[in-house]
Amino acid sequence: MKVLVSDKLGTKGISILEECKELVVEEKTGLSPDELKKIIGDYDGIVIRSATKLKADILEHANKMKVIGRAGVGVDNVDLPTATKKGIIVMNTPEGNTVSTCEHAFSMMMSLSRNIPQAHANVKSGKWDKNKFSGQELLGKMLGVIGFGRIGREFAKRAQAFGMKVIAYDPFITKEFADQFGAESVTLEELCKRADYITLHIPLTPETKYILNKKMFDLMKPNVRIINCSRGGTICEADLIEALKAGKIKGVATDVFEKEPPAGSPLLEFDNVVVTPHLGASTPEAQENVAIAVAEQVRDALIGKEIRNAVNMPSLDAESAKVLRPWVNLSEKLGAFIAQVLEGSVTKVSVQYCGVVTNYNLAPLTIAVLKGLLTVAMGDMVNFVNAPVLAKERGIEVVESKSSQLEDFANHISVIVSTDKGKCQVVGTLFGKKDPRIVKINDYHLDAHAEGNMIYLENEDKPGVIGDVCVLFGKKNVNIAEMALGRIKQGGTAITLFNVDQEVTAEVVKEIKALSKILSVKKVHL
Ligand code: NAD
Repeated sequence: MKVLVSDKLGTKGISILEECKELVVEEKTGLSPDELKKIIGDYDGIVIRSATKLKADILEHANKMKVIGRAGVGVDNVDLPTATKKGIIVMNTPEGNTVSTCEHAFSMMMSLSRNIPQAHANVKSGKWDKNKFSGQELLGKMLGVIGFGRIGREFAKRAQAFGMKVIAYDPFITKEFADQFGAESVTLEELCKRADYITLHIPLTPETKYILNKKMFDLMKPNVRIINCSRGGTICEADLIEALKAGKIKGVATDVFEKEPPAGSPLLEFDNVVVTPHLGASTPEAQENVAIAVAEQVRDALIGKEIRNAVNMPSLDAESAKVLRPWVNLSEKLGAFIAQVLEGSVTKVSVQYCGVVTNYNLAPLTIAVLKGLLTVAMGDMVNFVNAPVLAKERGIEVVESKSSQLEDFANHISVIVSTDKGKCQVVGTLFGKKDPRIVKINDYHLDAHAEGNMIYLENEDKPGVIGDVCVLFGKKNVNIAEMALGRIKQGGTAITLFNVDQEVTAEVVKEIKALSKILSVKKVHL
C-alpha cells in the first residue's frame, strides 16, 4: 500500500511508516492542487498537516484512498462530507498539542503581566525606560478560564502553582468536575465580572464565535488582561479594538486572529497588545507527538489493526456496518439535536434501542449519540474514539438499554439527556433504509426530516402563530422546505420544526422570538 506524506512530518513519524513492511512511503511536500489531483489516485493513505487542502475536487480523484491522517487537531482543510461519502477514514491527533499550547498561553500571560515584549524592544532600541514597564504579580489574582478542556485545565494547574485563584466557564462540565481541579464553575457573565486575567481555551463553533464581545467587555474590571491561544473569531476583534481604545482593558495577548496573518489589523497598533503568529503548538515536542501519533494511526488503520481517532466514522466490522451505518448517522443527529435545543451542563445520557438494531453491538450507536452531543460544544476534537472518554471526563453518566416494547415505530432509538437545567427526549427512526426522521420530542409526536438547517419552536397552539412565522420567513427570504407540527391537546403548548433551505441568521431568530405566542426558538443544524 502506498502512503503519501504531503506536508512536512517529523522524522520519527516517517520512520514509523517506513518500518512497516506493508507500506511504501513517499514524501512530496509543496504540491500544487493540480499536481496533487494528478497523483492522489495512486495512494491508499495520505498524511497531512495544515498546508495540504483536501477539498472535494481533489478527493474526487482519491479512488484508492482509505485513510487521511491529519497531524494536529483541526480537520477544516479536509472536505469531510466528500471523504465520508467516499468511505475514507479521516483521523486527527487531538492530544499531542496540549502542553505546548498551554505553556505558550501561560508565557503570554507572564509577558502581558510584566510587559516583557515591550521592555525588550525598548532596551534593544538603546533606551532604558524602567518606569514605563512596571508590571503586576500573579499571586492572589483571579484567573477566569473559558473552556475547561485539556488545555484549560493544564493552564489552571499552572496558575494555581503561581498562587492564582481559578474560576471557569464551560457549559459542558459539572460543578463537581471543576471542583476536582480546584476551580469554581461560574457563568460567563460572572467570570467576566470577577476575573483579573481571562484565558480562552475553546474551539470555534457557532456558540463560541464572538463569545467575548462588547457586552462582555463592558462587564470586565478595568484592569483585566485577556489571553487568547485558542482560535481566531472567539473574540470579536472590532469590539476588542473599541474596548482597548476606551481604555477598558489593561492588555491583550493573542496567538490567534480572525484573519491570519493579521496584516493591517488595528490591533497591531496598540502598545498593550502582545501578539505571536499562531505559535501554540510550535515546539519540537508537540510536532513529534503529533507526527508519531498520526504515523501510528495511519499504519494501524491501513494494515487493518485498529482505527483510532477517526473523525468521521466509528469502528465497525463490515457485516454490521452495512446495517448499522444509517442508524449511526441517526444516533449522531439525535445527540446533536438535543445539544442544540437543551441548555445546561449535561449530567446523564440514556439511550434506549428498539427493533432491528438490538441484534447488533450497540456501542457504536451510543458513541455516535455522544459524538453528536459533544461536537456541538467541542467541534472537530470529538471523534468516535474519544467521545466516551470525553463524556466520562465530564462526569456524564451514560446508560444504554434495549426495549422490546412496541411503540409507534417498531425500530427506533430514544435519547434522553439530562442537564442541570432540564431534560429532553428525542426519538428517531429511519424511513426506508436510511432516511433519518425525528418522530417524537418530549411528549410531542411529529414527523420531521433530521437533516440540514432547522428552526425548532415552542409556541401556543393558537390560530395565526405559525402563519406569522411563515410570513417573517418569506420577508427574510428564508425558504421553508418542510414543516412538522406536534401538540398534546388543542389550545395548549405546541411544537413546530421547520426544515429551511438557508441558514437562519441570529437576527431573524430574534425576530421570531419577539412574535406573539412564541415561547422559545432554537436554531438547529444537523
Ligand atoms: P478540549 O476539547 O479539550 O477543550 C475545549 C473545551 O471548551 C471543552 O471542555 C468544551 O466543553 C469547552 N466549550 C465548548 N463550547 C464552549 C462554550 N460555548 N463556552 C465555554 N466552553 C466551551 O480542547 P483543547 O485541547 O483544550 O483545545 C482548546 C482550543 O485550543 C481548541 O480550539 C484548539 O483548536 C485550540 N488550540 C490552539 C492551538 C494554537 O496553536 N494556538 C494549539 C492547539 C489547540
